[in-house]
Amino acid sequence: MVDSVKTLCPYCGVGCGLEVSSPRFSGTGNPTDEQGNPIWKVTGDRAHPSSQGMVCIKGATITESLYKNRLEYPMMRDSLEEPFRRCSWDQALTRIVDHIKLLRSTQGADAICMYGSGQFQTEDYYIAQKLLKGCLGTNNFDANSRLCMSSAVSAYIKSFGSDGPPCCYEDLEHTDCAFLIGTNTAECHPIVFNRLQKYLRKNRKARLIVVDPRTTKTAEAAHLHLAIKPGTDIDLLNGIAHILLEWGEINTFFIDECTKGFYEYAEVIRHYPPELVAAKCGISVPQLKKAARYWAKANRVLSLWSMGINQSSEGTAKARTLINLHLMTGNIGKPGAGPFSLTGQPNAMGGREAGGLSHLLPGYRSVLNAEHRRDVEQFWKLEPGRISPTPGRDAWRMITGLETGDVGLLWIAATNPAVSMPDLSRTKAALLKSPLTVYQDAYYPTETSAYAHILLPAAQWSEKTGTMTNSERVVTLCPQFRLPPGEAKADWQIFAEVGKRLGFTSQFNFKDSAEVYAEFVQLTRDRFCDLTGISHQALLRSGPIQWPCPQDHSRESKRLYTDFRFPTPDGRAQFAAYHSKGLAEPPDPEYPFILTVGRLYGHWHTQTRTGHIPKITKMYPYPRLEIHPQDAARINIADGEWLEVRSRRGKACFLTQITRAITPGTVFVPMHWGALWAQHAEANLLTHSEACPISLEPELKACAVQLIPVLASSATLIDVSELNSKLANF
Ligand code: SF4
Repeated sequence: MVDSVKTLCPYCGVGCGLEVSSPRFSGTGNPTDEQGNPIWKVTGDRAHPSSQGMVCIKGATITESLYKNRLEYPMMRDSLEEPFRRCSWDQALTRIVDHIKLLRSTQGADAICMYGSGQFQTEDYYIAQKLLKGCLGTNNFDANSRLCMSSAVSAYIKSFGSDGPPCCYEDLEHTDCAFLIGTNTAECHPIVFNRLQKYLRKNRKARLIVVDPRTTKTAEAAHLHLAIKPGTDIDLLNGIAHILLEWGEINTFFIDECTKGFYEYAEVIRHYPPELVAAKCGISVPQLKKAARYWAKANRVLSLWSMGINQSSEGTAKARTLINLHLMTGNIGKPGAGPFSLTGQPNAMGGREAGGLSHLLPGYRSVLNAEHRRDVEQFWKLEPGRISPTPGRDAWRMITGLETGDVGLLWIAATNPAVSMPDLSRTKAALLKSPLTVYQDAYYPTETSAYAHILLPAAQWSEKTGTMTNSERVVTLCPQFRLPPGEAKADWQIFAEVGKRLGFTSQFNFKDSAEVYAEFVQLTRDRFCDLTGISHQALLRSGPIQWPCPQDHSRESKRLYTDFRFPTPDGRAQFAAYHSKGLAEPPDPEYPFILTVGRLYGHWHTQTRTGHIPKITKMYPYPRLEIHPQDAARINIADGEWLEVRSRRGKACFLTQITRAITPGTVFVPMHWGALWAQHAEANLLTHSEACPISLEPELKACAVQLIPVLASSATLIDVSELNSKLANF
């Protein structure tokens, strides 16, 4: 199609600009791989404001994942015991539409669920909302962002009155103190970390504090590493606040003029004296005071967080407690300062704009708000009352709905819940009960395809045109530069086709994705996330654009809240007064260790893409369990021996890696290995589904486990070289 294109990396929420070119363009011929597929050259886009030409191994190798194990044609089967048979689009869509009609007339629209993904482009998200929440009248659309950053969304909304990260990446280069909590930025958001490290090398007075139970690559670079016990984040944050208040290192002007709720908060933090907090967190009082001193001395503190805060049964409380520190010290709305949630997926932010969680509507609206529902119904030309006032099922309640028979159709798109959901045995058992599961994905097989009745081939990044928004609110156009394989179609086209077949012809009459985006941005007019100044054409012309970007360009700003006014009824930010509750499942004599899970540099989520890239799989061929030498001695295990890890829900086996990088009493395993890639090494067989009551984000980060040394023969790891035959037989 074309020889060179500027686009966005489709892996993580950093949102790095890429330049993808065909070598033919540079006059070096048109090389192909062993299967005859063209080889594309990927470099960082120097003009992209977020990444400034930098790119990590995932972005650099992305095109190696484009041709392997692709789902090319619709397929279906009557039961999960049968093999799939190829079918036409018409046959597949007819079966889906008939089933939707049947469910609407028998169980009602709330028996229909869609579980989407932060891998969607904004256009895919938008059309899915229009189909489910608008035309079908059910709010049962949720995305895998529920497992990732929904706690950050609810914390921003409750503290500031609206979602929307207030900071930008430039703040990394203006801060006096970077406070990183619950984020292994070096491995999971590497280009953000590169920018920060470059700045810290030049500015020796700036400080880096890292809070993490593991000595990660991020922690190794810190001036102060607080290796707190899992689940003690609120103790730590309230403890720092206690010291700052005692020292008088607070911004009384900001507290008085721009916030409310400080006195209730002050009453809570009174109960967090340094000795108590240090003992609870497993750190020393001098360490705690040093952290408070860094906060006190800095004019500009920037905090970054991700899953270590969000994936918790008190995720919203943790994020709000962190925001409290910014409010009490006035560290927001100015360069180098603010609470900055790093999103995991490339377009989790676009999903938030388009209303892609079960309680949201497009344009940062809520299904709970009657005016918001009315706005959207009118815009979509639907009768009043069509949009339900009840939040739909979140991801976990889709699983429990399958258990109870209340869910009659589960439509999964661009995500792999048979690896990524908590309490995986229960998840898989529920998936087996599904009357009809539609699985729409670019790849086949995946672990989830084993549970599907209908497979729909989706065009992915590079094969369709659409937009994505990264963590700093920068929207980038990702143009199509290759043809999709076989009969694959863009996700939004598939949803629109189903909508039309259900009789909503005028609602889904789009010529292309530029028209979809043009319609979507109208729903953001005069909203906090105003995108009406952005279009595919403008992005093509000017490159990436940050929001807010109204049509008249009157509210453009790199940072939010620079006037210290917040989108709450009285314009004030709200302090939150939370005591620490700790882990939902703390260790006990029967399950004495805490298991924490996380990501490795290079790998991405469930390896659907990265598992096919040799440069990446060679880095970490197998999952290893990190254990402290004291604990290894306690259970009499040597480095490289096998350990069975048991929780109340399941068990898995891992090779041990004895390391002082992990806090005693805690063990770590990576979450990337599903049943396709290693047998009995699925981290989520162990995790539980207890969730934050506000954000409904499950506590994937911690559960109680037993560790039992076993013989090597009791577990099997799949050699990368054996993978293809396994894939063929999966
Ligand atoms: Fe892609 Fe994230 Fe790496 Fe940037 S940091 S190249 S967005 S994976």
